[in-house]
Amino acid sequence: MTASIPTIPLLIGGKFVQSSTTQWRDVVNPATQEVLARVPLATAEELAQAVAAAKAAFPAWRKTPIGTRARIFLKYQQLIRDNIKSLAALLTAEQGKTLADAEGDVFRGLEVVEHAAAIGNLQLGELANNVATGVDTYTLLQPLGVCAGITPFNFPAMIPLWMFPMAIACGNTFVLKPSEQDPMVTMRLVELAIEAGIPNGVLNVVHGAAEVVDAICDHPDIKAVSFVGSTRVGTHVYNRASLNGKRVQCMMGAKNHAIVLPDANKEQTLNAIAGAAFGAAGQRCMALPVVLLVGEAQQWIPELVAKAQTLKVSSGTEPGTDVGPVISCAARERIESLIERGVADGATLELDGRKPVVPGYEQGNFVGPTIFSGVRPGMAIYDQEIFGPVLSIVAAKDIDEAIEFINANPNGNGTAIFTQSGAAARRFQEDIDVGQVGINVPIPVPVPMFSFTGSRASKLGDLGPYGKQVVMFYTQTKTVTARWFDDSTVAQGVNTTISLK
Ligand code: NAD
Repeated sequence: MTASIPTIPLLIGGKFVQSSTTQWRDVVNPATQEVLARVPLATAEELAQAVAAAKAAFPAWRKTPIGTRARIFLKYQQLIRDNIKSLAALLTAEQGKTLADAEGDVFRGLEVVEHAAAIGNLQLGELANNVATGVDTYTLLQPLGVCAGITPFNFPAMIPLWMFPMAIACGNTFVLKPSEQDPMVTMRLVELAIEAGIPNGVLNVVHGAAEVVDAICDHPDIKAVSFVGSTRVGTHVYNRASLNGKRVQCMMGAKNHAIVLPDANKEQTLNAIAGAAFGAAGQRCMALPVVLLVGEAQQWIPELVAKAQTLKVSSGTEPGTDVGPVISCAARERIESLIERGVADGATLELDGRKPVVPGYEQGNFVGPTIFSGVRPGMAIYDQEIFGPVLSIVAAKDIDEAIEFINANPNGNGTAIFTQSGAAARRFQEDIDVGQVGINVPIPVPVPMFSFTGSRASKLGDLGPYGKQVVMFYTQTKTVTARWFDDSTVAQGVNTTISLK
């Protein structure tokens, strides 16, 4: 191994340690191909050590007063805030998104940390007084034990922060498995969490890919698994971890559609679509890769193409960049081959973003904004999640046809409608079978007092990340029915029925 390239440690029992594995992979700057670090694919023994550390820390942590837990997250949110610029720079270097968008990635995670600091108000049970004579019933929301999180490459700050802060605030201990493609900003966030006062063993990190994920799904001491990533891997994780008796939530792949009605505000709508289709190089699970133009809105294609052509493709560190590189050479090649298939399948290539000229970054994994019209189901560009800056335009005659089209797609992560008609928007929110719905909002990611959700192939498991749902996910409800006697209570005799008297 080259000595000058830093290696990324594991975190086990409060100590940042070097993995003893023989398997490492490079973390590569996608704009330059510079190798930034090496990440270990941890051994089975190292995962076992991380779980053992989390298990050992659980008895004390679960009994730690709720205010003490909350105050760690109060401190943590301040540390993230103080370091947001350097966190964003690290994120841009290893992931590629622009610095402003990287700051947004950190900020959307920070909001969940702020929410975790309010755990005192969130982890409340219920109480019913006098459910029978002298009897009260109440619930306790108690932590589960060791929980684990597996995260994707596209939000290396926000998505780890969806997971461990809420799990730990609820009194659980945690093992995190970050994306092996861009683990550096995640590790910096983990260092800040330790600095904020998370005790030894309460948060642990192992790195790796499929093997470590499978070991997490199989480990008998892990009680719950939270996964965010592709549908292919998420379905595997859900099945494997569920069969092993774990609680599992999997937030998975997407193919989000927007409907544009002809009464929409044209300028606002086209800006929103260009931003949501091409921002983050299309590598958001809430990106808008399909737009249904209804009726006369179909005439807006040239203006949309003109807008897309104004976007600057370059390194995320360059001022004014709108579209950074995609995560890897393999991702770029896959996107380019899908564009080729789109042409072969008969879609009209309105704008071809393949092989853009990017001065100073000739080695980067760049694909510029690409637009197809005349797209239909059955074409690879429609059927697959491209996860690149490629927008497919579909013509629809009216809102009914457009809603039916979206509901026939297997995915149900996000969607949006653009219109000035309240009645049309209400019709859409009622009938669309998608988790996140935007009304003149292209990327409707909920803020943390609500929960992220999803329907159909985009989600497995009942409860989503953050918001009220995640407190239910990371706790088990215990229902206590209690009666207290004192010496003056008159004995009622033996009750042989199930009734409470
Ligand atoms: P991915 O599924 O390839 O990887 C996700 C995690 O699974 C990583 O930690 C990876 O190491 C691990 N993994 C990869 N292959 C595995 C295998 N064969 N067995 C077990 N584990 C494996 O996803 P990605 O490419 O990192 O992220 C992009 C995907 O994530 C897209 O499909 C996107 O839509 C989805 N995503 C969904 C949401 C959501 O909330 N619904 C949010 C962000 C991203």
